[in-house]
Parts: sequence; C-alpha cells; structure tokens
Amino acid sequence: MNATPYSIIRPIGGGSFGQVFLCQHKKEKQLYVLKKIRLQMMDEKEQESTEMEVRLLSNLRHPNIVGYKESFIMLDTGDDLGGEGGMKSDLPPREDLVLCIVMEYCEHGDLYTLLKRREAKNKGTYSETKVVEWFIQVVLALHFLHERRILHRDLKTQNIFLAGRGSKRPDDDSAGNFALKIGDFGIAKVLDSTRDLAMTQIGTPYYMSPELFKNRPYDFKSDVWALGCILFEMLTFKHAFDAQSINGLAFKILKGKFEPLPASTSEEMKQLVSALLCTNANHRPTLREIFHIPFIRKRIPSVV
Ligand code: ADP
Ligand code: MG
Repeated sequence: MNATPYSIIRPIGGGSFGQVFLCQHKKEKQLYVLKKIRLQMMDEKEQESTEMEVRLLSNLRHPNIVGYKESFIMLDTGDDLGGEGGMKSDLPPREDLVLCIVMEYCEHGDLYTLLKRREAKNKGTYSETKVVEWFIQVVLALHFLHERRILHRDLKTQNIFLAGRGSKRPDDDSAGNFALKIGDFGIAKVLDSTRDLAMTQIGTPYYMSPELFKNRPYDFKSDVWALGCILFEMLTFKHAFDAQSINGLAFKILKGKFEPLPASTSEEMKQLVSALLCTNANHRPTLREIFHIPFIRKRIPSVV
C-alpha cells in the first residue's frame, strides 16, 4: 500500500467481492473507505464491465450518494491486509491484481445497524416525521440515478450509509445532523450478473420484487419495490417480507402480503407503502410520482 497515497487503518468489513478498509489519506489526513476488488477472480469481460462501472460511478455527485474519490488498480502483496500487526505466515506472499475504489467514509455506519441498535434499546420506532425525512433523502438519490438510467439493483438498509457532521449519535431522537447516502451500487449490478445464483444462495433476498422471482429482468420498478421494503423497515424495524425459507419468502412476495403497519401509522403513509409494494410493477409509482404525493412533497427541502 506504500505506493498509494493511503494508509490502511483497519478492515471494516468483508465485502462480497473483496475487502473493505477504513483508510487515511497520508497528506490530506482525511478518512476514506477503500474497497478492494480482486480482479483475478474475474474473466476479462467482467473486468472490463467493472472498470466501466467505476468510470460511471466516478461521475455521480449527489449529497445522498456515497461520494466517490478515486480508483486505481494495484498489485496487492497481501502484506497490509490485516492492518497493523497483521498475520505473518510462512505462506508465499500473495500477489493479486486488485481494483481499489476509494470513497467517502460514512462514520455512522449503515441504516440496518442503526435500526437494529434502536430496536435493541426498546425505545420504540422512529417518528413518522423522521422516517419521511430519511425516505426523501433516499428518494432524491434514487431519482438522481434513475434520471441517468442507472439501476441500483441492490437497495437495502445495509447499503444505505449514514454520514454526519455533528457529534451526536444518530440514534438519539434529537439527532438529525446526518445524511443518508446510498452506497454499494453499480458494482453489485455488474458483478451480480455472473453470480446471481451464488448471491441468492448465500444472501437473503428480502428485497427481491415479485417480477424477479418470475425471472423477469430487473427494472426501475424493482428498485421502487426495494424502496418500499426499506420504508417498511424504517417504520417497523422488520422486513416487509420474511420467511424461514426461500420458497416461503417467494410465496409471500409474489402475493405481496406484508404485516399491517402499526395502527398509529398515518393513512397517507399506509397508502404509500402499499403503492411501493404493489405486486404489479406497472402500478408502482415512479420516483417523480412519489415526489408529487402531497405529504411527501411538502416535506421536500426546497433547495436540493
Ligand atoms: P458488500 O455489500 O459487498 O459487503 P459494502 O460496501 O456494502 O460491501 O460494505 C461492506 C462493509 O463495509 C459493511 O460493513 C459496511 O457497513 C462497510 N462500509 C461500506 N462502505 C462504507 C462507507 N462508505 N462508509 C462506512 N462504512 C462502509
Ligand atoms: Mg453492501
């Protein structure tokens, strides 16, 4: 890693296609996230499409999308993978070609963890006002992508990150000083294509829309379905569709049957969730239509 302007601080997660590290720019001192993707695991076509995707990502700038810093390909000798004091073994040094993607570090982690932490504290669900504020941020980002004909294809609470400037922890009721940012996209879109099966087997396809279970191609409305699942989760801390087995899950999703929202939920919110989770993709709203729903519209910040 010495040849790069970054020093690795610690691993923060094993991504599906490589590793994710917290790192620091040696000169700027700014913290970033560095994602390493092993290119040698891919065939030439996969490599090309990954690189193309990165070029596409590099042009996306939106306050609710995890910021892209730069990317480069390097020969990874494996000596820094464990960070400081990493394991030294007798194994010959690994030399892998890796694609490194450097992006904004979202210091409050991801939305999934935030919701789980709040649930564990038994402090009840978040207010609808808060949820709408978050939802709008995700909608703004997704609208930005869809306008550019980009599908996210892997929207889930784990891929929504929280960046904040304040010192308050975002699970504090009064906290609002952080932004939701969609991350981990595009890459998944390209890489998934050859590994769909593996993903289905190891992952938990809670966010898969009915049309995907029918082997129809992924489309903008499939992102809208996932958006509905995310909204449901923000309101209840539960997956909209949950089952013990993939067949059980497919059954529920194809029927579009989800647990009723708490009685305290407003009618407008209930209608919105039902619209997003409509089994007929054509009847799901587009993002533009979501913006025109009065109770959403009036909460959209005027300067965006
Ligand atoms: P994958 O879904 O392939 O595992 P992700 O990029 O979603 O890869 O994330 C892997 C891990 O790194 C997760 O634990 C996630 O919370 C963390 N992570 C990823 N990107 C960021 C980021 N920009 N800021 C903070 N944490 C991140
Ligand atoms: Mg992810």
